[in-house]
Amino acid sequence: MNKPITVTQPSLPELEEYTELLKTIWESKIITNNGDFHKQFEIELAKYLKIQNISLFSNGTLALIVALKALRITGEVITTPYSFVASTHALHWNDIKPVFCDINEHDFNINPDKIEALITPKTTAIMPVHVYGNPCNKEKIQKIADIYGLKVIYDAAHAFGVECNNKSILNWGDLSVLSFHATKTFNTVEGGAIVTNDEKLKKRIDYLKNFGFADETTVIGYGINGKMNELIAAYGLLQLKSIDTQIEKRKQNVNFYRKLLTNIEGITFLNDFENIKHNFTYFPILIDKNKFGKTREQVYEKLKENNIFARRYFYPLISQFNAYKELPSAAIENLPVATKLTKMVLCLPLYAELECEDIERIVKIISKKSS
Ligand SMILES: *Cc1c(COP(=O)(O)O)cnc(C)c1O
Repeated sequence: MNKPITVTQPSLPELEEYTELLKTIWESKIITNNGDFHKQFEIELAKYLKIQNISLFSNGTLALIVALKALRITGEVITTPYSFVASTHALHWNDIKPVFCDINEHDFNINPDKIEALITPKTTAIMPVHVYGNPCNKEKIQKIADIYGLKVIYDAAHAFGVECNNKSILNWGDLSVLSFHATKTFNTVEGGAIVTNDEKLKKRIDYLKNFGFADETTVIGYGINGKMNELIAAYGLLQLKSIDTQIEKRKQNVNFYRKLLTNIEGITFLNDFENIKHNFTYFPILIDKNKFGKTREQVYEKLKENNIFARRYFYPLISQFNAYKELPSAAIENLPVATKLTKMVLCLPLYAELECEDIERIVKIISKKSS
């Protein structure tokens, strides 16, 4: 049996370099609560991402929950069913009713032309997701938000480092939320962040992630503990050194996949978008069972038999989970494109250290016609 290949594999910093930083922490005995590594990591990240302010969190889900809290979002929020379940859970944790909007076929993102029909007097915000790091249509989304007086919170968990015309897409909307989970392109084991251009809002977010403390005796609201600790901040600083190399290797792997998969009847994938700097977080393919002769499930199983663990991101749709499927907006008639794509998509293994031979093996198994 060949060695197992999983959908992703985290890149880690050099152990020796990390040990050096740990020694500093051991000496200072400052292990959390906005220490020097935390401060430095925020500065370096803002520089790398070409943004003004960033607030670090212990994970992306807490960052999403606090982002909604910081903007005092209530009532109903229009979002996408085609994402990781944490997007919608963050709404639920704020007692907000999710309203699912269908997606585009060309980028897997929320379809802005379908948002307006979902707005009610209770709607307070739109929460799109830059799925697979593909930028949403921010102009159309912002236009609707401006007309109806809605906030826009981007779940940018997949969008670390993505740029549009040399500018970070994390500047869009009122807030953007990142995840640094082990499975993401940029990982700090677990971690996350909120990005905002608003200095005062950053301050409020920083209070909220530390129990609401504005100073030793003042609590400004229902804060939570979402802080990133010093061991993780130091780890993250080292990760920043190699992120460009990681993304470049991912890009080469994606281009190799594309080359091998071109002209296979019934298999399609996205190419790079114009004026976009991608981060190559995922490599989703779409399998058309009528043209290809096999279903997505059959391909998924075939790979699994060969010790290759592709993932059906995103299946099922969030709107199909028990927690949300009774909502009126979860009805599949309202979500025809998402319902179609969720049955066709398969994310193939992708990470920096993936070898060309691995990719050749994966494509060979996919394209083998018999059984
Ligand atoms: C990973 C992810 C999250 C959650 O991030 P964690 O850091 O794992 O809590 C949220 N939204 C999307 C779209 C994600 O992929």
